[in-house]
Amino acid sequence: MNTKPSSRASGHIVILTGSGGSAESGIPTFRGAGGLWGGHDVMKVATPRAFCAQPQLVQRFYNERRQILLTKEPNAAHHAIARLQKEHSGRVTLITQNIDDLHERGGSPEVWHIHGELLKSRCTHCGMIHACREDLGPASVCPSCHGTGRLRPHVVWFGETPLFLEELDARTRDATLFAAIGTSGLVYPAANFVHIARSRGARCIEFNLESSDGVFDEFIAGPAAQTVTAWVDSFLGHTR
Ligand code: NAD
Repeated sequence: MNTKPSSRASGHIVILTGSGGSAESGIPTFRGAGGLWGGHDVMKVATPRAFCAQPQLVQRFYNERRQILLTKEPNAAHHAIARLQKEHSGRVTLITQNIDDLHERGGSPEVWHIHGELLKSRCTHCGMIHACREDLGPASVCPSCHGTGRLRPHVVWFGETPLFLEELDARTRDATLFAAIGTSGLVYPAANFVHIARSRGARCIEFNLESSDGVFDEFIAGPAAQTVTAWVDSFLGHTR
């Protein structure tokens, strides 16, 4: 490893994960597939306009993603991040752009899903959010208001505002160490977190197969399951 663990042992670590963090669990990234997600143009399946124009196509797309997710398991990177959250003497904030639940199943005690969660539905009428493992469609009934055909996946589509931004901006300003794992840095406002952290003096590390835009202090190349695990082992070894 070419990384030197932070000397500020009890500092606040902010981690941002992207779809590359779940790639080794068998969930494809979408930039990696030429801008396609599950074989679809994201603008045709991940926008409010698409849902308005072709609700059944959009529901089918997310139904398929949900059923695939239920067959997948967290990888070593998810487990390592959970260990860091539990064992680091300071604060660890885990922000993810992923809509899967692999951080939770990997043992993470707290996960901020800024782009929502595939295993939840939201009622377009009453706004209530519910756990959801089954397919959604025109016959789905909201458990709260009992309306039919009003449930949508609780995910943030392109053109919608990501969740928890105010709280997470504040936490990122407080970071001493910022780590971006498996994210292309092309989706805003998530891509802005590194700039916030850096402007406040945090050390910024990128874990990816290829370096993004050079704003990080350090780039650690390779598959996340390997690099993140080695880095967490090294970091906790140095701070315990
Ligand atoms: P992205 O697809 O734009 O970029 C993925 C990045 O991960 C790339 O930079 C790639 O080089 C890197 N990568 C691929 N495999 C890797 C590995 N094994 N180890 C380390 N890095 C690896 O993803 P993004 O930046 O997260 O943005 C995509 C958006 O699509 C997100 O908003 C997310 O909501 C959605 N999405 C989510 C999932 C999921 O929940 N697992 C999957 C696909 C897309």
